[in-house]
Amino acid sequence: MPELPEVEVVRAGLAPAVVGATMTSVAVLDERALTRHASDAADFVAQLEGADVVAAVRRGKFLWLPLADRRQALVAHLGMSGQMLLRTPDAPPERHERVRLHVEHPAHGRLAVVFSDQRTFGSLAVDELLDTPDGRAAGLGSDLPMVPSQVAHIARDVLDPAFDDAAFIAVVRRRSSAIKRILLDQNLISGIGNIYADESLWAARIHPETEGRALSAQALRRLLGEVRLVLEKALAEGGTSFDAQYVNVNGQAGYFAHSLNAYGRTGEACPRCGGRIRREAFMNRSSHYCARCQRRR
Ligand SMILES: [Zn+2]
Repeated sequence: MPELPEVEVVRAGLAPAVVGATMTSVAVLDERALTRHASDAADFVAQLEGADVVAAVRRGKFLWLPLADRRQALVAHLGMSGQMLLRTPDAPPERHERVRLHVEHPAHGRLAVVFSDQRTFGSLAVDELLDTPDGRAAGLGSDLPMVPSQVAHIARDVLDPAFDDAAFIAVVRRRSSAIKRILLDQNLISGIGNIYADESLWAARIHPETEGRALSAQALRRLLGEVRLVLEKALAEGGTSFDAQYVNVNGQAGYFAHSLNAYGRTGEACPRCGGRIRREAFMNRSSHYCARCQRRR
């Protein structure tokens, strides 16, 4: 699944092409791409055509484009395999193309933003913008203190300057659930999926099944630091790609997969201590950790 770094790569790639642009026409090829839109495809098109995009914003794995002069945004969630691709307006359809947004940018001219999605768990929607409860910017990419209603329940992510480390640590220290489960809880901390949870826990030498309340504030501060480092490193390398589904707006895959220490390395030697990386079933997925240097407390 695309996680925060992959979505941020897409946001940063889209921003120069769409911020300040007008959506001139919208073509919906497959209505399954609009499952999160409250009305039908005709309504989706009518809401967007003629609208000006003022920013490209991200919180966790959600990406949105606020529209000028109204409290609305185009919200995108990439699901399992969604892609946002920048193409020339007359480019042939992508294999799994669902929606094509034609934009006209004052500096870059006409472009097409193509939403392509093989497995159709991703979605686009026009959504209402709500004021953020803390009055701060809603996410990375804009100072606007307004968040789409569909994103309002999602916690801020650790790369967001308004993420509250002390509040997060206080909540974790009251929980009996496993720290890995807590890291995956989008209502507490967003943007971390299986890959980056395993990598951060490995870096902080914490066993994934450790109860939240068993961790000291100091250990949790160290963990948050490692989460930020892992996400920033993945971001610098263009995200992680295993099957070429997670690509930037030019269709290129990231290469962070080569930098993983624990995830997907079952049976290999731990790069830190030489112990074996183990894989264990965890919430319909797997946890990867070193049994020697990530001891269970
Ligand atoms: Zn180890």
